[in-house]
Amino acid sequence: MLFADGKLRASRPVDPDARAPGLPRAAADDGAHGLWTQVLEFLKSRINKEGYETWLAPTKGWAVSDDALEVSVPNGFFADWISQHYAANVREALVSISGRDLKLSFRARDATDAASLRRPSAVSPRPGGDNGARLHGRYTFSNFVVGENSRFATAAAHSVAERLGVAYNPLFLYGGVGLGKTHLLQAIGNHALTQNPRLKVHYVPAETLFLELIQAIEKNSRLEFKQRYRVLDLLLLDDVHYLVGKERLQEEVFHIFNHLNDAGSQVVFTSDRPPREIPTLEDRLVSRLGSGLVVDVQAPDLETRVAILKQKAALEDRELSHEVALYVAARIRASVRELEGCLVRILALASLTGRPITTALAEEATRGLVDVPTLPDGNAIVAATADAFGVTVADLRGPRRTKQLALARQVAMYLLRKTLSMSLKEVGYCLGGKDHTTVMYAVEKIDKLRITNLELDARILRLTAGINRG
Ligand code: ADP
Ligand code: MG
Repeated sequence: MLFADGKLRASRPVDPDARAPGLPRAAADDGAHGLWTQVLEFLKSRINKEGYETWLAPTKGWAVSDDALEVSVPNGFFADWISQHYAANVREALVSISGRDLKLSFRARDATDAASLRRPSAVSPRPGGDNGARLHGRYTFSNFVVGENSRFATAAAHSVAERLGVAYNPLFLYGGVGLGKTHLLQAIGNHALTQNPRLKVHYVPAETLFLELIQAIEKNSRLEFKQRYRVLDLLLLDDVHYLVGKERLQEEVFHIFNHLNDAGSQVVFTSDRPPREIPTLEDRLVSRLGSGLVVDVQAPDLETRVAILKQKAALEDRELSHEVALYVAARIRASVRELEGCLVRILALASLTGRPITTALAEEATRGLVDVPTLPDGNAIVAATADAFGVTVADLRGPRRTKQLALARQVAMYLLRKTLSMSLKEVGYCLGGKDHTTVMYAVEKIDKLRITNLELDARILRLTAGINRG
């Protein structure tokens, strides 16, 4: 610590918080405070506003000596970030203000927090310890929300993790971007390691494997490279579509796989498409990759997207109302990664402004992010229909079945299906959990009624126009 060396500047104003040498200080040093305030002034006009507000504004000068300045920051992240991104600017400021090249150091206000933040591995527990598996502790089965889209893939992954090399070998998971393949792949590793921490597990994206191979070729250490992979109990190879056009890598993967397979070790692959659809993949590799179980992971339906959002919010110790979750889930359909991105923005906006998480806030936070920006959401359609028929939203979603209510409900189902292209199941869900056959019947009925009942047709046209206007 800076103060322990007793080298604090003599010219510094008298410190009311004087203490015995070596004891931690309880308050900042006025000299340091003044100097740092000038540094901040200097930097304010030189770096972008957002960067300044985020990283520099929350800092304070803490202590200054002849050759060093200590700055107080909220936590270790700030220290790392400022050192990496603004070190040169700060130095320039210090030299121009004080005429000295002071050595900069940081003091985290939350010391314990800082220690853990600085070492990411400490906050992401690794079930198997740091054994080189390269697994992220967050990717577990318990953190994975299972929907119809992923039920089979999850079951297969789980059973592989329980019985390595026995159940399905290799297991090949494929699906679109951001649908949870990497999550499931790593969950297998994490689960296997909790069962047996001594297992040799290794997760590697095909791209990294490629770089390792190139390096091995350059360094003439191919044998070592091979050896590293051949001793594994479980190899998790992510994104094998990357093998396209890389014959040498395909060859290596083929040999590694054969070796592991002969030794009874488990291999799991992921890809954005099934083996036979990966162009230019050698036939023998295609047949190897597909020789075990090939399962797809599909996009989650509305109900699963809602559940994922709520779970992710809960992991952040925040609660998301059903209405807000539904609002976001109805707009972001393509990938769970995007869904996560939206949630992060919503939570950030709520915490930065201290506002409650409402649909309006969600709309503000996700503006410009959504798949179809002008897409009306399910809640709005249900509300507009209720309004047009003089019934309440609760009634529409509830079980009561008067003639008027039944018709209004069918129209709402029809509109959700036609204007938002929701699946039958999603429509049912949006209306309080009605069965998909009920929805199918409703859509067909309204389609027919529109031809004979002109008054109803006009009503629907008005509703549709209103919906599209937003
Ligand atoms: P992929 O590898 O298919 O591109 P990822 O596994 O990286 O997708 O998933 C993207 C993000 O979405 C990850 O943060 C992952 O934890 C999350 N995710 C995907 N599917 C689910 C799910 N069913 N439940 C919880 N989180 C999920
Ligand atoms: Mg992935």
